[in-house]
Amino acid sequence: MSAHPYACPDILVGGTWRKGRHAQHLTVCNPATGEMLDNLHLANADDLQLALETTHKAFDHWRQVPAHERCARLERGVARLRESIDRIATLLTLEQGKPLAEAKAECALAADLIKWYAEEARRVYGRVIPARLPNSRMDVLKFPVGPVAAFSPWNFPLVLSARKLGGALAAGCSIVLKAAEETPASVAAMVDCLNQELPAGVLQLVYGVPSEVSQALISSPIVRKVTFTGSVPVGRHLAEMSARHLKRITLELGGHAPVIVCRDADLNRTVNMMVQHKFRNAGQACLAPTRFFVDRHLYNDFVEAFGAATQALRVGPGMQADSQMGPVASERRQAAVRDLIDRSIARGARAVTGGAPEMGSFVAPTLLADVPLDAPVLHEEPFGPVASAMPFDTLDQAIAQANANPYGLAGYLFTDSAKAILAVSERLEVGSLAINGMGVSVPEAPFGGVKDSGYGSESGIEGMEAFLDTKFTHYVA
Ligand code: NAD
Repeated sequence: MSAHPYACPDILVGGTWRKGRHAQHLTVCNPATGEMLDNLHLANADDLQLALETTHKAFDHWRQVPAHERCARLERGVARLRESIDRIATLLTLEQGKPLAEAKAECALAADLIKWYAEEARRVYGRVIPARLPNSRMDVLKFPVGPVAAFSPWNFPLVLSARKLGGALAAGCSIVLKAAEETPASVAAMVDCLNQELPAGVLQLVYGVPSEVSQALISSPIVRKVTFTGSVPVGRHLAEMSARHLKRITLELGGHAPVIVCRDADLNRTVNMMVQHKFRNAGQACLAPTRFFVDRHLYNDFVEAFGAATQALRVGPGMQADSQMGPVASERRQAAVRDLIDRSIARGARAVTGGAPEMGSFVAPTLLADVPLDAPVLHEEPFGPVASAMPFDTLDQAIAQANANPYGLAGYLFTDSAKAILAVSERLEVGSLAINGMGVSVPEAPFGGVKDSGYGSESGIEGMEAFLDTKFTHYVA
């Protein structure tokens, strides 16, 4: 029994919260203790059909609600969310494992994201093009694309759901969200805050067998837009399915972020910032720094300082007040991360920190140094508390090595050299680059990847545009 109340949520379809009617259910566990928290009832085919019919009807209504009212309703939902941060963060820590302070910060960021989109609802402008003929007008108009099917993962369940909910709802779309079955209660609590301020059916939430849900939603002619955050193989599969039905899709598929540390970098500042950023959420972040390319003059000092700061991290259950890093999300993820570390050490990487002791779903924060360029950890997304360090001799070499894997989401650079900043911003193959900082993702700026990290952007005006159709009208009087 957990010391804190936890219950799996119902699904929200047809305008009400109800039990999913699937024959199967799933068990949600606390990854810090392995303790079973509750059973999750899943949506069956009839539940999904009801969700589709409801979203169809709700879209006809919501699209006509004036932008000012959409904004006001979403802002009231955000106020409810902010009032509920402590309760929702506790649910998130219990089911996902991250330290409570991180869970609170995630909930606050989810509120900020939806607030930004709510305000942006009032700024969806078209444009007027100078007409070619007398007595005529040429307009470009923007309309909501239609009902949205959204799929969000378990690592940042609130923020990654909020990016989809905020954009779709602000644009005037109805939305069916399938959030991750591993972390259902925190997302349901956030959805409830918003739903209380929305017309029934505009926002629906389902949990189910993922392949059944995506098949039912994406193949339905009712759904006009798909948005997914998760792994590359699942993203590829959903992209193929969306292409078959000619649906627009936004894909955010993870990353393997390079960090280039030049000779002039402030070592202490760089290490303090990057250790904190690397091990946040036990490294299970698509934008986590993972591959550190360090100028050879600084390399030994960097490895020593990064190793010492990593070793000093307090690892423990997320509900424990002094924990700085919690467990990874499941035993399955723990086994995958351990296997990647072991294969990379076998290939010649040197473990500076890491190894035992491990319990529950914990993995010790690990630094691998002198990692050979063909080691698996440089090519497979670690998605866990593992950092790799390699020395470089020239900036050209660092950029080439940083680009030598299929991912392209976030990147980091530490230097004050204008020449290095220009070279890296021009040539590093990423969708977001932070220079002397870690802010690669904020509500008002686009966030998205290149190469296997996916396509399309979330947040910023680009994120809003993803939920809009464009129409050209040419009127001759
Ligand atoms: P996974 O591929 O098994 O699942 C990822 C997510 O996709 C889950 O939420 C799952 O419910 C969903 N999913 C799986 N099959 C689906 C289908 N047919 N239709 C719809 N949804 C489906 O990955 P995992 O083992 O849970 O996570 C590990 C990997 O996922 C990591 O290595 C990382 O690359 C990736 N990941 C990326 C992000 C991100 O922020 N981009 C987030 C979470 C996971």
